[in-house]
Order: sequence, then C-alpha cells, then structure tokens
Amino acid sequence: MSSEEVLKCSLCSEPAITNIRYAKLRLCKKHFIEYIQNKVFKTIKRYELIKNGWRVLVAVSGGRDSIALLHILSVISKQLGFNVLALHLDLSITDYSRRAREVVESFCRSLEVPLIVVDLKELLGVRLPDLVIRSRRPACSLCGLLKRYLINVVGIESKVNVVVLGHHLDDLLTYVMKNFLLQKLNDISKLGPKTESEGPLVGRVRPLYEVSGNETSLYVSIQGLPVVDGVCPYKVVGSIEGEVRKFLDSIEGRNPGIKIALARGIAKNIEFYKVGLRSNVGTCRYCGMPTSGDVCAFCKLTEKVLGSSMGPIVRSKIKEVVSSYR
Ligand code: SF4
Ligand code: ZN
Ligand code: ZN
Repeated sequence: MSSEEVLKCSLCSEPAITNIRYAKLRLCKKHFIEYIQNKVFKTIKRYELIKNGWRVLVAVSGGRDSIALLHILSVISKQLGFNVLALHLDLSITDYSRRAREVVESFCRSLEVPLIVVDLKELLGVRLPDLVIRSRRPACSLCGLLKRYLINVVGIESKVNVVVLGHHLDDLLTYVMKNFLLQKLNDISKLGPKTESEGPLVGRVRPLYEVSGNETSLYVSIQGLPVVDGVCPYKVVGSIEGEVRKFLDSIEGRNPGIKIALARGIAKNIEFYKVGLRSNVGTCRYCGMPTSGDVCAFCKLTEKVLGSSMGPIVRSKIKEVVSSYR
C-alpha cells in the first residue's frame, strides 16, 4: 500500500485526518464530524436517553466537552425532535469564570440556543474562593456540592425532562475504575449513561458516554468551536486518576475497542452497583430539596459559613430567573 492510499479517508477520496482504530476507519474532516454526530445520535437511541418532544437542560461550562456536546445536540435535536436549553453556572472563580461565561454566552447566541446563567455572587453575595477560605474545604469538593445543588434546583424549577452532562468515555471510565479501586461501588452506579430521576429530582444523561476525550477535542478543533482558554486555577489531577487514565490508554492501545466494551458492560450491569443505596430520600427542612438527612448539604454549608441556610432564597431567586424559560 502506498503512503498516499494510507492517508485517504475510508469513505471518500479526501485525506484522512484521524485513524479510529477500534472502528477500523480513517476519516476525513467531513466524515469524522458525521461519525461523531451519528455516534451521539446512536448513543441516545441505544440507552434511551432523550425522547421525542422533550426539553433538555444542557450544563455548559465552556470547556471542550460541554461545548462539543452542545454543538452536536443542536444539530441532532432536529432529527430526534427535542428542544435544547443551556445552563451555565458562574461560580466567580477568578478571571477564569468570566472568560468561560463570555465563551458560553456568545456560543449560545451563535447557535440560537436559549441560555440560563446562574451567578453565585448574585445569589449568595460571595464567590467560590470566599467560600473556600471561610469553610476551609477543598475547592473542588465545594464546587461539586454547589454545582449539584444548583443544577438540581434549575432542573426542577425549569420543568425540563432531563439534565444533560458532558462527561465523556475517558472521564467516566476513570471514575468507575477509581471507585472500584476504593470499593465505592454505589458511586459506580451513578456513572452509567443515565441516572434516573428520583422524586422531584430530574434525571441526568450522558450522551458522550461512548465518545473519547480525544474525539471531543478533535471535534472542537476541526469545527473551530470556541472554548475557554486555560484551566481552572483549582484544577489538580489526582494521582489515582492520572494512573488510571494511563492504564486505560495503555490497554486500549493494545486492544482497540476495549474502553467502549467496558462502558457497555458497566451500563448493562449498573443495577448491581446499587449496593445498599438508600432509597428513603427525605426533604431538607429549610429548602425542601431532596436529601438523605434532615438538612441538605447546601443549607448546612451556607448556615455554617454565611450564618443562615440560603437554600430557600436561592430556590426562589432561581425560580424567578428560569420562569421566562419554561
Ligand atoms: Fe470546580 Fe475544581 Fe473543576 Fe475548578 S477544577 S471547576 S474548582 S471542580
Ligand atoms: Zn471522507
Ligand atoms: Zn436545603
């Protein structure tokens, strides 16, 4: 085979820009874009993630994965018959948050996708770095708590059918393997292609479940999509995550397709990981959001660092913000 033949797309005569080993396909730009959009389309169908006529809330941070996801969904939503609403959470993490918000706002305008912005400073009068100092908790743990709470509140108040997250194959498998090593089996049950709704909580779906991190990056760069520059100043790659990623890449290198096979196996066995999961979820005595205790984590945090439980105020402010998007 000559080098010219080697570089051609498997589906046309254009030069190939990537070699997808697990699918035995070399693809040109056009066919790679179609391949990824089609893959997400099939993932939505395979796992029944989004139904015809639904309104979906897509959480968009401004990073590569969520930007790629929003773009793909804006294209395939027409074929699948659902409506996209975007959500951006601005936690005021230094200049990084301002740049991320600008990217998301202008990208949504260009796609003509309605966008809800929830601004932590406007809601609580404080920024994430203030909460880190006052609570003495790690930034990422606080960030996770705030994002979960705010997404859940927006999901309920906007009356969408489902929340869509931009976690891709490599992220999900890394968390699965890490949780397996730590024997946190319950946590694996939340890493499948979908997490069903629970009481008033809106379910979550992950249409990039079978798309790798490299594929989302390539999609973004080929399409010239805007993404926030740099990384969050709090970003620390944990040593276990780093090791697990290397391990997964190495077995994929020798066995193309094993990551997707593993992801499909996890999706099939997801019920087995719900070991001792508590199903008797109550409601927070302050804000009424679902919680396993008497007071939810958000109300506990705000009571401790701000002097009062802010859940009720935050819920009513968000209700006001999203009322025009229902
Ligand atoms: Fe939040 Fe940590 Fe991610 Fe920054 S790195 S966005 S603080 S989870
Ligand atoms: Zn081609
Ligand atoms: Zn609460």
